[in-house]
Amino acid sequence: MYTTLSVGTFFSSSGRLHSVYKMTGKLFGTTGVRKVYGTEFDLSMALKLGKALGTYLGEGSVVLARDARTTGPMIEDALAAGILSTGVNVVKAGMIPTPTLAFITMHRGYNAGLMVTASHNPPEYTGVKFWGPDSMGYTPEMESEIERIYTEEEFQVAKWNRLGQEQTIDNAVDDHVASILEQIDSKSIESKKYNVVVDPGNGAGSVLAPYLMRSLACKVISINSQPDGHFPGRVSEPDKESLTDLIKMVKDTGADLGIAHDGDADRVVFVTEKGEVIRGDRTIALLAREELKRSKKKPIVTTVDSSKIVDETVEKAGGKTLRTPVGDIQVALKMKETGSVFGGEAAGVFIFSEFHYAPEPFLTACRILELMASTGRSFGELISEIPVYPLRKAKMKCENTKKSAIMSTLAKSLPKAMEDTVEVITVDGIGISLEAGWVLVRPSGTEPVIRITCEAPTDEQVEKILADAKAEVERAINGF
Ligand code: MG
Repeated sequence: MYTTLSVGTFFSSSGRLHSVYKMTGKLFGTTGVRKVYGTEFDLSMALKLGKALGTYLGEGSVVLARDARTTGPMIEDALAAGILSTGVNVVKAGMIPTPTLAFITMHRGYNAGLMVTASHNPPEYTGVKFWGPDSMGYTPEMESEIERIYTEEEFQVAKWNRLGQEQTIDNAVDDHVASILEQIDSKSIESKKYNVVVDPGNGAGSVLAPYLMRSLACKVISINSQPDGHFPGRVSEPDKESLTDLIKMVKDTGADLGIAHDGDADRVVFVTEKGEVIRGDRTIALLAREELKRSKKKPIVTTVDSSKIVDETVEKAGGKTLRTPVGDIQVALKMKETGSVFGGEAAGVFIFSEFHYAPEPFLTACRILELMASTGRSFGELISEIPVYPLRKAKMKCENTKKSAIMSTLAKSLPKAMEDTVEVITVDGIGISLEAGWVLVRPSGTEPVIRITCEAPTDEQVEKILADAKAEVERAINGF
């Protein structure tokens, strides 16, 4: 149930700095394990986590991959050792994007896929994400069972002649790319010879994204495309602030589209030919409209923090939107449950369930190019049909241990503090519908912060909502 957290440091007789660990906090967050290396997560924990997964599976093979982080190879080896010790086989796929790992786990029928990644977090973070043979991320229930085995140390131990076998593969990316190309109308994209700038942010997308675009006869310029766990080019989270080089490059070269990924490339953010960074929820709305042309009966799934523009666009196209808690696994679960073929998250997650249930940023990029090719219109023209509602976000520092008490206080105080509260939704955090707009307050599952997101029809209204919400959250934090 508990992981280690550094509570102090001391110098040994050799004068080297050591950390003192104390058991605190849960191992799994919103999505798998994501922790700071050295103070919250270390090799001995990775070894134990490998043993716990091997024990959970009992037999079979685990495909293991990593993103570009400096800690990746070492954490991967410790996990592999743990898995092998239980008698379960390990197939190492090297440094590849998270969606590629999820795809080959399903495509090649492995019993599980294990990705060493901390997604878009800063470089000192590491983590592990689990995937099933159905391309779904592990559910909170499955993670709880692994955490129970981990905590109770009830490990399966194989004898020397029953240990797992280790094997290495180097064609996972080729398989993934070939399958993506089968999903799309490559010919129409190829005929346009688009100019595309790709920015994988020094992450795992570097090994796939530029090559996929090139195979579609695009003229590709890539920036920040040397995998480097220090993330020298930009911070890993792709947004308007971090993508200044990409914006400039798209404008300077007259490119048709800019494509940016986060560290493990399960997210994608698009930049128009004019250098405008497009929020993921607008892209969801654009692609949902296309999906609804095929079937209006299947719902579109998105998370609580997406813009109302998704609901409005989907409704206009004759469809229905369903909301889930934040996290791509929550979206995938709801899609599976309802037979939805398309869903996503505003942060840049897009899932096409007929291909697989993991985020699929590469197929999404192809779908955008396909739409541009079939309509003969630019991405900027296409997305201009999806209006922008002003959205504001804020992060407030809050210790992980205090989050739940603060959220309980806010559940009572926030609806009262906001003017014109219409409805309170608690599918994930505290969501409040207001007469003009909405606000969502939720504790981050991966960082010691509480996040506030709000949206309203005008800048003035959204600023007012943000100011009111921030003041109330601050009051609650200061009260503890
Ligand atoms: Mg990610």
